[in-house]
Amino acid sequence: MDEIAERLAELERLGLSRRLRMISGPQGPTVLLDGKPVLLLCSNNYLGLADHPRVREAAAEAAMRWGVGAGASRLVSGSMTIHRRLEERLASFKGTESCLLFGSGYLANIGVIGALAGREDVIFSDELNHASIVDGCRLSRAQVVVYRHRDVEHLDWCLRRHGAAGRLIVTDSVFSMDGDIAPLAHIAELANIYGARVVVDEAHATGNVGPDGRGAVAAAGLEGEIDVVIGTLGKALGSYGAYACASDETIQYLINTARSVIFSTAPGPPAVAGALAALELLQERPHRVGRLRSNARALRGALADEGFPVAPGEMHIVPLIVGGERDAMRLCQQAIEQGVFAQAIRPPTVPAGTSRLRLTAMASHTPGELRRAAGILADAARRIGVDPHDMIAPEPEPLHELQEIETALVRAERVERAQWLQQVGQEDRNEVGAGRSGEPYGAAAEGPALFDFERDSSPAKAA
Ligand code: PMP
Repeated sequence: MDEIAERLAELERLGLSRRLRMISGPQGPTVLLDGKPVLLLCSNNYLGLADHPRVREAAAEAAMRWGVGAGASRLVSGSMTIHRRLEERLASFKGTESCLLFGSGYLANIGVIGALAGREDVIFSDELNHASIVDGCRLSRAQVVVYRHRDVEHLDWCLRRHGAAGRLIVTDSVFSMDGDIAPLAHIAELANIYGARVVVDEAHATGNVGPDGRGAVAAAGLEGEIDVVIGTLGKALGSYGAYACASDETIQYLINTARSVIFSTAPGPPAVAGALAALELLQERPHRVGRLRSNARALRGALADEGFPVAPGEMHIVPLIVGGERDAMRLCQQAIEQGVFAQAIRPPTVPAGTSRLRLTAMASHTPGELRRAAGILADAARRIGVDPHDMIAPEPEPLHELQEIETALVRAERVERAQWLQQVGQEDRNEVGAGRSGEPYGAAAEGPALFDFERDSSPAKAA
């Protein structure tokens, strides 16, 4: 057996082998999977705009007017009016001065992170950030410190221990595999205290959360305050491509330094025009966002009624954590046979031992379809010998109001401490851990684990 065949066999043995499944038709609530109709519960076409008639027409019209391809990087063969129009619209939607399009969300993350951090700098990255952020961190050659998922105390501690000139905090806003939200207000506060820049990836938030779907940054009241807000056009905006929203100066800097803009062909006119039409629809008729939320609530309620450990709420991403890779695959296959398509998600996308079905509600589902899906998933689980009641409960939901008030007090305390530290001109290096309770964090003496190249195939490696 040659090396590639051996590696494939190894993936098969570990229950980690992947294959492409054939579907027919657009990403609607129902698709034909290998010729069989199934309810689609794993698409990121959250608002149902990927196949909306106005979006299709806009893409077709743009193809007729400008052609299909952009020809080259915009720095080489020129920027098209349709690029500029979408950028202006996105900047105003996100409340920033300016915007820059990228070929995809993956390219946006590696381009932006690489432009903002280099060898001399330190990046602070949430342990459950998307793989494109992880790869952006790797490519930047900066030192990478991985902080515990959504743990602002740990982030504070990490920031204090790594006093480099250039600090960059990077986080998803809505986490792609768990559907929970980053503590953005606290992160922005810490960034202020420590003089760090912040990049937030709104791939799963834009169009879905916050006022009129403007995202989690807007929901936290931080519009215009985050250094770079990234998002994709490939999910709620129903198309393909991505954007970074920031100040004029930062966008000029990205045009000059983000390698995935400089060295990659610009997004094609049909994709850009399709996203522009989707954004217009979202702004004209924000009721779609409300429908997505009520569908998310309906899906969560129906799953809880079937015994799954799913918290009530309005978040459209709902993980059913099975644990083992093979069990997740068996549940996925069984559900398909019974008429529900929810892809199993395994390492390296999620940490080992937390393989899951990642369910996504769409605005285009009916509540009846979601109830039917929940019933089928519960039956499928029992058929493979898994009781929904015994499944692993996801992490608790984000901070509620009382905790917010409490942390506001802690925050004020931190500002005072930072001011004092500045006055005495030193970092309090002797203070180990310094969580609110004063407890040390694990291997405190060695500091947090630096980025581990294997992190995405193993459980959390933060210190
Ligand atoms: N960021 C996050 C959080 C994502 O979930 C994804 C896609 N799954 C991306 C970035 C990449 O976006 P795109 O699909 O446009 O490359």
